[in-house]
Amino acid sequence: MTADLATITGIDAPTGLLIGGQWSAGRAGTLPVIDPATEEPVTEVADASPEDALDAVAAAADALPGWAARPPRERAECLRRAYELMIGRSEQLARLMVVENGKALRDARGEIAYAAEFFRWYAEEAVRVDGSLSVAPSGANRIMVTRQPVGVSYLITPWNFPAAMATRKIGPALAAGCTVLLKPAAETPLTALAIAGLLAEAGVPDGVVNVLPTAKPGPMTHAVLADPRVRKLSFTGSTEVGRMLLKQAADYVTNCSMELGGNAPFVVLEDADIDAAVNGALLAKMRNGGEACTAANRFYVHEKVASEFSAGLASRLAALKVGPGLDEGVELGPLVNADTRDKVARLVDSATTAGAAVLTGGRAPDRVGYYYQPTVLDNVPAGAGMLAEEIFGPVAPIVRFTSEAEAIALANSTEYGLVSYVYSGDLRRALRIADALEAGMVGINRGVVSDPAAPFGGVKQSGLGREGAHDGLLEYTETKYIAVDW
Ligand code: NAD
Repeated sequence: MTADLATITGIDAPTGLLIGGQWSAGRAGTLPVIDPATEEPVTEVADASPEDALDAVAAAADALPGWAARPPRERAECLRRAYELMIGRSEQLARLMVVENGKALRDARGEIAYAAEFFRWYAEEAVRVDGSLSVAPSGANRIMVTRQPVGVSYLITPWNFPAAMATRKIGPALAAGCTVLLKPAAETPLTALAIAGLLAEAGVPDGVVNVLPTAKPGPMTHAVLADPRVRKLSFTGSTEVGRMLLKQAADYVTNCSMELGGNAPFVVLEDADIDAAVNGALLAKMRNGGEACTAANRFYVHEKVASEFSAGLASRLAALKVGPGLDEGVELGPLVNADTRDKVARLVDSATTAGAAVLTGGRAPDRVGYYYQPTVLDNVPAGAGMLAEEIFGPVAPIVRFTSEAEAIALANSTEYGLVSYVYSGDLRRALRIADALEAGMVGINRGVVSDPAAPFGGVKQSGLGREGAHDGLLEYTETKYIAVDW
């Protein structure tokens, strides 16, 4: 790592591959890490080849029997120590994340706290891997059900939450007794490597956690999934890549958990507290600069309150301080890379050409860094691309509706089903609507739903399985039934 990076972050972040407890060079050379605020490389990390990944599979397979046999309490204590270490170094980790991802420091601090909670939660869950015993209906035998670790698990994470998406997988995998290969996104390998370093410090044995940044995830993933020792794929990323990985995994009938894209509707009914709805919208839209799978992507607002809501949201977004994520008081940093910014610009331009009204923002500012202005668009026409695909940026499209039934139909008119938000002064009504929304999660009068103790995940093409809660632990176990002649 460069001296500069160490000075900026206060942490000596590792830059090698982690395989079998050793930090090593990558057979594919190195890959640069770019600071989105300067568009300049800040350091390079080792680039893993498919052969490196197979070495990691071997290390994880060797470590598996020992780790699975460890008393659950010992596995729990490793995770608990990792939680303490992460909290102790949260400021340094947050700064490291800002350098590679661009997000505002306050968002990075929030993410580190959230990410560490997955270690604490799964330290508590590691001792609660239960089974059952029942009498067969015929009375002839007893049905004993136990849970075993699924085995070597391949974890693929996106760049938008470099810490939390890693701990949300590593925590339950280790708690269940699995060993893992983590493939972080090429944009954000540093946070993942630093977290792996903490786990080693916390006493996690060599080979239990292996980390493989790569510039070419395709060939590496082919090699890993084809290895029969790998029994689990847990992926967080776009629906497009998730679909492709499910097809590959089908060849080996690999156990899959998929946390995919979202297109969250944010419904504001005419009886909502509009100040509260604007506050919630700000969180649901702007947490992580809009680069969140849970980001409100479509605002459906009742025509009676639409003007008040849009004016309120526009004035709050216009007031946000935009700049390099590490600068004091900055509330919105740059997007992660040029492609992401250009996609946002393309979606806004096509919506405004089709007739949407710009209430604030509407373009990329003329400065170095992958910035986009916080933007509110009103009266976005039904066919606009931004209502159908993830914007993944600081843009809030508003559509007006006249009836509750129309709002529900609009909210459900997507192949995605991760999260939905509803604002209403009538809780009964909001609960009725929550029932009708096709989503794995619903926020009622709240702009944030994420909680390590809650089951996170989507329906439809937003995913398969759940992370967090007890459900997240079960994703890393296989059920075994033993028939006992009593
Ligand atoms: P992405 O799908 O492009 O990449 C995700 C990961 O997959 C990265 O590590 C990437 O290197 C890897 N990848 C890409 N191509 C691959 C291939 N051919 N084989 C194997 N791995 C490959 O997504 P992204 O742009 O990094 O992240 C944003 C997406 O993630 C959004 O769609 C967002 O909604 C989604 N996301 C979902 C959740 C959730 O919990 N549902 C959470 C965060 C992000």
